[in-house]
Amino acid sequence: MAEKSWEILEGACLSCKKCRLWETRTNVVIGTGNRNADILFIGEGPGQQEDLQGIPFVGPAGQLLDKMLTAINLTRDDVYIANIVKCRPPGNRDPHSDEQEACLNYLRYQLMLVKPKIIVCLGRIAAQAVISPDFRITRERGIWHDRKGYKIIATYHPSALLRDESKKRPAWEDFKSIRDMYQSIK
Ligand code: SF4
Repeated sequence: MAEKSWEILEGACLSCKKCRLWETRTNVVIGTGNRNADILFIGEGPGQQEDLQGIPFVGPAGQLLDKMLTAINLTRDDVYIANIVKCRPPGNRDPHSDEQEACLNYLRYQLMLVKPKIIVCLGRIAAQAVISPDFRITRERGIWHDRKGYKIIATYHPSALLRDESKKRPAWEDFKSIRDMYQSIK
């Protein structure tokens, strides 16, 4: 049954033209990782490498995310990773609100299938879509929210850490908090 549901999701995404981003995509980037994970990471949208390979977080930001997962004793096999939009915004611009709106049902469907206990929003765009439209990442990252049975937290997007070294320390504090929460629900 779950297998069939994933097939339906993949079929819908691969043929999707619900927003303008389909016109410039190479691949639809649906998600990757453990479909039964207790923890689900949500990024913003595919970048250049992700668009070329069809897999989320495979470029430099993805390599940093892998290192941060390793540091809290997790691998990609322990987590599921998806994005707010499944097609690359040209030039890595922020996805527009109508594009996010058009794509969010796919993420909702993924949440329904994976049934994570913990959701980690990577960056402002994901936090604003999932937690609150006026979410301020610098002030509100690292705070846990209880919503619809999920424990939800936001931290910096790994690409922000690559641009600004000073964000690495607070991001590491967030990851330790994620590790502790993950251990508490196991
Ligand atoms: S970004 Fe989402 S809604 Fe837009 S075309 Fe791609 S899959 Fe469809």
